[in-house]
Amino acid sequence: MTEFLPKAKAGKFAVGQFNMNNLEFAKAITEAGMAEQSPFIFGVSEGALKYMGIEYTVAIAKAAAEESGLPIALHLDHGSSFEVAMKCIRAGFTSVMFDGSHYPLEENIRLTKEVVKAAHAMGVSVEGELGTIGGVEDDISVDEADAALAKPEEAIRFYEETGVDCLAIAVGTAHGMYKGEVKIRYDIIEQVAKAIPVPIVLHGGSGVPDESIRRAIEAGVGKINVNTENQVACTNAIREILGKDAKVYDPRKYLGPAKQAMVEVVREKMRLFGSSKQA
Ligand SMILES: [Zn+2]
Repeated sequence: MTEFLPKAKAGKFAVGQFNMNNLEFAKAITEAGMAEQSPFIFGVSEGALKYMGIEYTVAIAKAAAEESGLPIALHLDHGSSFEVAMKCIRAGFTSVMFDGSHYPLEENIRLTKEVVKAAHAMGVSVEGELGTIGGVEDDISVDEADAALAKPEEAIRFYEETGVDCLAIAVGTAHGMYKGEVKIRYDIIEQVAKAIPVPIVLHGGSGVPDESIRRAIEAGVGKINVNTENQVACTNAIREILGKDAKVYDPRKYLGPAKQAMVEVVREKMRLFGSSKQA
């Protein structure tokens, strides 16, 4: 990510992190990247790692990099410990997120620093997180929502002490699909982005209106995570085909169209994020 994220911040565009959940996701993201000539990041959660197997995951990402010739990263999403980050790096990941956001600030800084030190020694980039990025299903009050937001001065200090390559901060988005309005704190993004040289990461990018995405990029977001929208597109396509045809039994007959539906989602995001033709 150290290759293309600085370009994104300087050029005021964002690179999408699209989560890989199986082969169809990987192929859809790669095809979209090739069609748009866009850099991209494969995000892999610990749950997806368990599901796919770490060796399969790395092999698929390598095949995608070779086939596409695009600048891509294989990134651990929300890594929970130093150990899992190291396991991924040893297996061939080019980037890891260490999510210490649930720890007190001092502890988050201390743990993230350890990951950065080890990862940078191996040429691997690191994303850190500050503040609490909840799920849309989390039922929290306005006070709680405010308390969960990242404090700019803490975010700046976190960057200075850890040396992360990009920083996820809680600015009002949530994981999952939104039902109501998303209130993004552009002022927080701007304040932090101005003070640190690395881009801000926006988690919970699914379902955020296009105009809000553009404003967030303008304010200093250089990496945007999208997963739920692809999951919904994939599942809707499969549901539609199976609902119409009770006799279909060849998985390729519904997984193929599911993949195609995801290609459309990812291409649209790449254009919206401004990463098209930036490879
Ligand atoms: Zn996230």
